[in-house]
Amino acid sequence: MPNVFISKHPLVAHKLTFLRDIQTKTKDFRELVREISALLTYEATADLVTMPREIETPLVNTQGQELTEHVGLVPILRAGLGMVEGVWGLMPSAEVLHIGIYRDEKTLQPVEYYNKLPVEPNVSVCLILDPMLATGGSAVATTDILKRWGVDRIKFMGILAAPEGIENLREHHPDVPIHVAGVDEGLNQRGYIMPGLGDAGDRQFGT
Ligand code: URA
Repeated sequence: MPNVFISKHPLVAHKLTFLRDIQTKTKDFRELVREISALLTYEATADLVTMPREIETPLVNTQGQELTEHVGLVPILRAGLGMVEGVWGLMPSAEVLHIGIYRDEKTLQPVEYYNKLPVEPNVSVCLILDPMLATGGSAVATTDILKRWGVDRIKFMGILAAPEGIENLREHHPDVPIHVAGVDEGLNQRGYIMPGLGDAGDRQFGT
C-alpha cells in the first residue's frame, strides 16, 4: 500500500510480541513502547533534510551533516505520551506539541479537548504519535488541526494499526505516511484492535 510502512525489523517484531503479551507488566510495557518508538523513528525519519557542516576531528578538518529540520512531536494524549521519550532520545532538539483528543466511547468519534499549539507554526515537519491506529478518527482529526495550523509535512507513527484506521487516514490524508510496527486483523465491536495489545493507555499508566 503506498505510503504505509510496516517495519520488517526483527527487533521490532520481537519487542512487539512481548508488548502484546498480557503477562508483560506496566514498567516493561512502557520500556517496550519507548524502544519500539525509537526503532520506528529511525525508519520514519530517513528523509529528513541535512546540510553540510564543517567540523574538526582530533586529526583533521572534515565535513559532516547536520539536521536542518525543526521537528514537532505530537503525541495523541494520553497513550501517545509513552512514545515521546523514544523519539526524543534520538532527536533531542524536537519540540513536543500538545493536542488532546479523546475517543467518545459510545460514538467512537474524536473529541478535541486541549490545543496548546503556538499561534504560528514553528516546525517544518510533524510526527503524530499514537500507539494504536484503530478507527483512525484521532489521527485524522489531529492531521486536520496541524494542516489548518499551517504544517503540511506530517507523518503518523504508531505501534499497531487496524486496516480500518489505515484506510480512514489514507482516505482523508493520502499525503501522510504511516509508520507502524504491525497491522492487525481488524477492530472488535468496542473499537479495539484485534488481536492487539489491549488498551495502550491503561497498560502504560497502570490504570
Ligand atoms: N486504543 C487502544 O488503546 N487499544 C485499541 O485496541 C484501540 C484503541
